[in-house]
Amino acid sequence: MKFGGSSVADRAQIEKVLGIVRAAAADDRVVVVSSAHKGITDGLIDAARRAAEGTFEPRAVIEKQHAIAGSMGCPPDLLDGLFSELRDLLRGIHLVGELSPRSVDYISSFGERMSVRVLADFFTREGLAADAHDVWDVGFITDSVHGSARPLPGFEERVRAAFDALPKDRVAVVTGFIGKDARGEITTVGRNGSDLTATLLAAALEADEAQIWTDTDGVMTADPSVVAGARNIPHMRFEEAAELAYFGSRVLHPSTLLPAMDAKIPVRVLNTNRPAHPGTVIQAVGPANPNRATSIAYKEAQVVLTVQATRMFGEVGFLAKVFGILARHAVSVDVVSTSEVSVSLTAHDASALKTALPELEPLGEVTVQSGRTILAIVGQHLAEGRGTGAQILGAIADAGVNVEMISYASGSLNLQMVIRDEDIATAVATLHAMLFERG
Ligand code: ASP
Ligand code: MG
Repeated sequence: MKFGGSSVADRAQIEKVLGIVRAAAADDRVVVVSSAHKGITDGLIDAARRAAEGTFEPRAVIEKQHAIAGSMGCPPDLLDGLFSELRDLLRGIHLVGELSPRSVDYISSFGERMSVRVLADFFTREGLAADAHDVWDVGFITDSVHGSARPLPGFEERVRAAFDALPKDRVAVVTGFIGKDARGEITTVGRNGSDLTATLLAAALEADEAQIWTDTDGVMTADPSVVAGARNIPHMRFEEAAELAYFGSRVLHPSTLLPAMDAKIPVRVLNTNRPAHPGTVIQAVGPANPNRATSIAYKEAQVVLTVQATRMFGEVGFLAKVFGILARHAVSVDVVSTSEVSVSLTAHDASALKTALPELEPLGEVTVQSGRTILAIVGQHLAEGRGTGAQILGAIADAGVNVEMISYASGSLNLQMVIRDEDIATAVATLHAMLFERG
């Protein structure tokens, strides 16, 4: 059961978490994975940046954490050891005046190390016996890639052995997001990475399911802040969720699903504020989704590159050249659409793309357009429904939105189009009404 930063933001939220964990622990053995309290990770990184720039100011973040622990009734000295380690680290960063990826991971780790201690202490005093664990003490040893570390091969056995040795009648509250490498250096799996910690541990422990507790009713048909009528999606397949996660659908971190997919463990996304809501179950196979589409997602502020090469007509290797150049300049490409003499593609890193332009220009006429949005309609039945594509494009046209690029692979779960950023609200509302709100 993974609880995100907003689920453990303050006393009111942590009391909800206690209720949810208590109810689950009555029937099953549960493992809790927690994020830092909302805002603490940002506060830590901010303090570290300022320390590197010359301002040693550990107070704000320590006071914020101290206030949360105090409001939970924790002993006043519960976190003293971590606070002084944190002060020492910030002083060190201040002295050397620089912030390495290694120090960023080290400083970031305090958020989760502090929150699990607060939760376990509170749970125990409320009658639900619990222990806080730093994840490296339960077998989660990673490689040394700071900022995106992954557990070392074979970590599953170590995790299983560690949990076998823990008392079965006490709830383990484990740090998300962080790890340690084989030399004992602290690492992180990446921002918002507690979900990934949870699915990795679930896979290692062969859990019945991984629950991601957040602040929406599971995964929604569209971003509720854009579409008032956005609805919960009861069931999704892993592939559908993976397409959406890539769009940063605000619910799941893109790599979260992989461990669960590999281990065939369902992932359930649930709402801490409405625990009775069934949320969304994501699994390999499941009940068919009766809708033509499952969800709408988008990614704004993209750049579209077009290379038009009349001279290349009929020549072999044009696309290979274009992609070779882009790869050398580390341009990550998302949507691609080609014709005989041209290729259009989207990228999000405009400055990387800029460095590639001098090499692309000899290939043909190159144009770059910015301020574009990739709009994706995801659904396992998209390929089956005759006329769905025509209806989607027709509705968009009727709404006065110009589609500049389309990509849809054979049998795909994902119809993607490129529109202008300023058309997002209109396009999403129109498609949502057509696909989800009418008959
Ligand atoms: N606390 C970390 C972050 O803010 C990890 C997480 O929240 O999942 O990025
Ligand atoms: Mg978070």
